[in-house]
Amino acid sequence: MNLILFGPPGAGKGTQAARLKEAHGLAHLSTGDMLRAAVEAKTPVGKEAEAIMAAGKLVSDELICNVVADRIEEPDCAKGFILDGFPRTLAQAEALDEMLAKKGKSIDAVIELTVDEDELIRRIEGRAAESGGARADDNVETLKKRLDVYHAQTAPVLPFYREKGLLRSIDGMQSMDAVTRAIEAALPEAA
Ligand code: AMP
Repeated sequence: MNLILFGPPGAGKGTQAARLKEAHGLAHLSTGDMLRAAVEAKTPVGKEAEAIMAAGKLVSDELICNVVADRIEEPDCAKGFILDGFPRTLAQAEALDEMLAKKGKSIDAVIELTVDEDELIRRIEGRAAESGGARADDNVETLKKRLDVYHAQTAPVLPFYREKGLLRSIDGMQSMDAVTRAIEAALPEAA
């Protein structure tokens, strides 16, 4: 079973991906984690990505597609995987289809976690106020910037999967356990 977890920053994709990995033995492919590891290890990919990530922008489609194409070749992906944070543009979605088709694979479902963005921002602001200081305030600004990028570049991917009949939208503002149950209920039958 190959899944995509989709949704804006703060929707809880990482938490739910970890649970899906555990429950179904799928590989968890977080492109954000992969890029952060590359930055840490100072690889050529990391050097190219570092400043772009710090600015809250998207790295190039070509760079991230190469990273994902290599990763899905790894043995732990043979039984299936969860993509978390990819695809983030329509070009990435199309490239993903192509790379999977070459391997005789496909995406079985796209799970979208929807959020109330005002509530999301209020939560982060609440946390910032509690901890105090400039750094916490930065988080609010960064979240807003990343939400803007999500709307401009990533949300347009949704119709692509809706038209294929793969999209399942789930209210991500419920408790983590309720979201997990809703995802499980939305998974394809054969899984
Ligand atoms: P994330 O942890 O998924 O929010 O990713 C952190 C950062 O990595 C993003 O803000 C982007 O700069 C970069 N990134 C992760 N995934 C992608 C992607 N699919 N396309 C472009 N940039 C990405």
